[in-house]
Amino acid sequence: MNSHSNLSVGEAQARVLQCVPSGGIEEIPLERSPGRMLAEDVRANRDLPPCDVSAMDGFAVRSADLTCGGAVLTLALDIKAGDRPQKVIAAGECARIMTGAPVPPGADAVIRVEDTRMPSDRRVEITLPVKAGNDIRARGEVMKNGDVVLAAGMEITPGVIGVLATVKRARVLVRRRPRVAIVSSGNELEALDAPFDPERIPESNGYALAAQIQAQGIEPARLGIARDDPRELADILRQGLEYDVLLVSGGSSVGAHDHVRPTLEALGVTLHFWCVKIKPGHPMAFGTRGERLVFALPGNPVSSMVCFEQFVGPALRVFMGHPRPFRRVVAATLAHAVRHRPGRTEFVRVTLRRNADGLRVASTGMQGSGNICSMALADGLLIVPADSEGLAAGAAARVQLLDGVGFEEASEFMGESS
Ligand code: AMP
Ligand code: MG
Repeated sequence: MNSHSNLSVGEAQARVLQCVPSGGIEEIPLERSPGRMLAEDVRANRDLPPCDVSAMDGFAVRSADLTCGGAVLTLALDIKAGDRPQKVIAAGECARIMTGAPVPPGADAVIRVEDTRMPSDRRVEITLPVKAGNDIRARGEVMKNGDVVLAAGMEITPGVIGVLATVKRARVLVRRRPRVAIVSSGNELEALDAPFDPERIPESNGYALAAQIQAQGIEPARLGIARDDPRELADILRQGLEYDVLLVSGGSSVGAHDHVRPTLEALGVTLHFWCVKIKPGHPMAFGTRGERLVFALPGNPVSSMVCFEQFVGPALRVFMGHPRPFRRVVAATLAHAVRHRPGRTEFVRVTLRRNADGLRVASTGMQGSGNICSMALADGLLIVPADSEGLAAGAAARVQLLDGVGFEEASEFMGESS
């Protein structure tokens, strides 16, 4: 057997990621950029705040007037946000000031209104001493003109959008998203819009995979269902190879009617591996044609989704320049024993519940690779290591989250050997 024919999950992930090209760069409007990866360093185009401003509604004072622990000052000025005060505050004077308004010349501290009293319209009584700089936001404290405020490679989060708008970037350079195509294969498959026939198998992988891709912000093309016929398959796979990434579900095993692998090879795809020690997931193949990536996923609905999470999702994220391509893994405690025969890394569909001791993990129930309901119920995938002889109730366990929020830099599996 070829050394590439039966890889550990980590070896297979490493092999895939070595082949992922950089997707290139495009310029898009700011409003369309959430979730994208920034492809340029961004600099401040002004000092912010543009001058020293008040952090509170209160009074601007000279701290030297209050060294004895308080004073009664004369109200000399009223300053609102957007004003540009010129008058110098003299000894014994103060100015009413609003949050964000410029501190007038002469004043060097702000006292919030709650710490003052006004015995008359023109008099302000302060009973506390104050240090110079109190409740003042200094010019350039948030950003200084010319400073790099965002670095290439950052994910555009709502906070990053706020910074981009602050530096008036109506358009931004981001990493390109891959174009992804999905082909489903199998004579038995009934399309969603085809007449109902109780003898056939409803085609679901195309939709579930599309949703997994959409969760990465990518709109895939579903090219439809190919019958188990080499010529029909070749026609549709040829179209699929126009895309950056092609996913084929079903027909990738070695059955007499499994034509996907030979057809891909006939179309010039180099297969890098076609067996991974993963459960559910066997068989799973990966190949390339130039910079195009091809994943031949198992037909079983759970297997195709689990393989997507381990191999395709990370590849899409690397293409887009994401520094954290892998699903986040958390520590949890097993609610019950889990049986396992050593050999393959297993991903058990589980629910997670928080209790006083942390996260408690339990199986969603029947775990067949065809039981798509187990995926619908799952909060995550319990990882049973390939060499495990089973996990005991109460044992520490690791669970890959499926909630789509957090991702990690390194995979659990990389560095392991088969
Ligand atoms: P295969 O990988 O083609 O041997 O298919 C394995 C199992 O998955 C079979 O029971 C198929 O009917 C089923 N299957 C294959 N493709 C799909 C699909 N697109 N949607 C739902 N089930 C599928
Ligand atoms: Mg089939």
